[in-house]
Amino acid sequence: MTHTTQSNNDLLLTVSDLKKYYPVRRGILARVAAHVKAVDGVSFSLQRGETLGLVGESGCGKTTVGRTILRLLDPTSGEVHFNGTSVFALHGEELRQIRKQMQIIFQDPFGSLNPRMTVGGIVMEGMVAHAMHPKTERPERAQALLERVGLSREHFFRYPHEFSGGQRQRIGIARALAVEPKFIVCDEPVSALDVSIQAQIINLLSDLKQEYGLSYLFIAHDLAVVQHISDRIAVMYLGKIMEEATSEELFRNPLHPYTKALLAAIPKGVPGEKAKRQTLPGDVPSPLNPPAGCPFHPRCPQVMEECRSKPIERVEQSAGHFVACHLFPASAIGSAKPAGAAG
Ligand code: SF4
Repeated sequence: MTHTTQSNNDLLLTVSDLKKYYPVRRGILARVAAHVKAVDGVSFSLQRGETLGLVGESGCGKTTVGRTILRLLDPTSGEVHFNGTSVFALHGEELRQIRKQMQIIFQDPFGSLNPRMTVGGIVMEGMVAHAMHPKTERPERAQALLERVGLSREHFFRYPHEFSGGQRQRIGIARALAVEPKFIVCDEPVSALDVSIQAQIINLLSDLKQEYGLSYLFIAHDLAVVQHISDRIAVMYLGKIMEEATSEELFRNPLHPYTKALLAAIPKGVPGEKAKRQTLPGDVPSPLNPPAGCPFHPRCPQVMEECRSKPIERVEQSAGHFVACHLFPASAIGSAKPAGAAG
């Protein structure tokens, strides 16, 4: 059975009002007392060959979005369509087949590779699971992939502990590519790596996207990391998307106070020079008890009275530029000017 509802041929993925809540149980009867709202009504779409950067501080829910799309976590509600098929309606063999097309590269290149398997075994594991290619061809394909990601053929016979962090991430990339996916969730793939290695891995992922016609959901906590690889960027805070625009537009014309704060946190001048960073005061509040109204209001330098109680809504301010902030009410569509701004 298929579950097809979409017709746009360029559209690869749509995520509609996705929610992922975790129940919090209390008392000897373990009754559900509250919910942690890790993802609270997230919507976006991804075209074929496109990269969407998903950015926010730790605990904002971005990793949960990626894992729920892949059904590594069960959703609370919402819809995900991949290639026109409802991912959440699939079970058994249908789910297994769609998972082959949707892969993930993990943040931790040390913990995500089985230390008891050879690199060749790791890269071929997906080919074996999906019965891809004649058995005798798999080693050659795996070795060619290792070469393509910047390793060598003889690494096929070695074990993960023999490699550096950057090399292990290359093994993770080869493993994802081995099953010929169309879409990859890159879950903070460079956060654990040295700055000098980060650029190499981002460039490799960028080249592979062109070569294999891939689409990425590229998750990061740093806007600078996603700037060049992303076609569009969505900024997330406490389970919600606060702003979404093309990468160029977001850097040229950020609207949301949280996006502006993330941009101000990018070090200027000498890489790693912390003295020039502007850091956002306070931490992300607990998603167990999020602030009423706009969840960013306790930290927002432009907070207004209505922000403390009135829920925010996503509004398209200019073509493809969405923002959820009371400074930009729905009536201002097309103007991209804050409420009350002159001119
Ligand atoms: Fe700041 Fe209010 Fe906009 Fe939230 S809605 S970001 S508190 S101005």
